[in-house]
Amino acid sequence: MKVAVVTVGDELLAGRTTDTNATWLCERLTERGVDVERITTVPDRIGDIARVVNEYRAEYDAVIVTGGLGPTHDDVTMEGVAAALGRSMVEHEDALAWLEEQGYSRQDLTEGTTELPAGAEALHNDVGVAPGAALEGVYVLPGVPAEMRAMFERIEEEFTGTPAAREVVVADEPESALLERIADLRERFDVSIGSYPGEAVRIEIQSDDEETAAAAAAWLRERVDGPDQR
Ligand code: AMP
Ligand code: MG
Repeated sequence: MKVAVVTVGDELLAGRTTDTNATWLCERLTERGVDVERITTVPDRIGDIARVVNEYRAEYDAVIVTGGLGPTHDDVTMEGVAAALGRSMVEHEDALAWLEEQGYSRQDLTEGTTELPAGAEALHNDVGVAPGAALEGVYVLPGVPAEMRAMFERIEEEFTGTPAAREVVVADEPESALLERIADLRERFDVSIGSYPGEAVRIEIQSDDEETAAAAAAWLRERVDGPDQR
């Protein structure tokens, strides 16, 4: 399954907030064997949100959108998603009923709180108030990290795939010195390889087959300088 993640918020683009939601979602999705193919951040603007959701919905099996839910003037994500899907925004009875069960009354709730794109399934918010929504492969989650995580856990079963086997080899050598050995490794084994330089170079080896990944990692560990590998 191929998925795109869209995070919404002017504060993300201005560098005031670190986009931990995208990282968290990508980690959880990857663990489930889902391929995340895009992370895109857009401002709190209906047109920008609609354009990206529309494009990604056509391209990927699902789009996860987070941020910009709630009652303030800059929370326009639901409108953007509704526009992308050609839906109007309507009062969602199930979302309201659920909040009433939690002890809120209609009068407590800021106007618009339970308006969702017509035809959407409401996603209940166990941590906060603003409901999320799911429709046509688009999942709209809150921006507050704790709320986003709890809501994702309600829907995560819908995201499926085959988790790849992954091995890490740490090499205490310049990345450029490793090129030939990595080329050799790629020729010998049916694996995909990522090389991530930092203080040492982390070489990540992935395969659909556990034994292949392990054999490739063992082969490389014998041929690089490094700390006791893993
Ligand atoms: P909002 O969803 O725009 O109402 O944001 C609610 C709170 O969640 C704000 O404090 C945001 O900075 C924070 N937030 C929104 N999006 C993200 C994100 N992608 N990663 C981390 N925090 C976020
Ligand atoms: Mg915001």
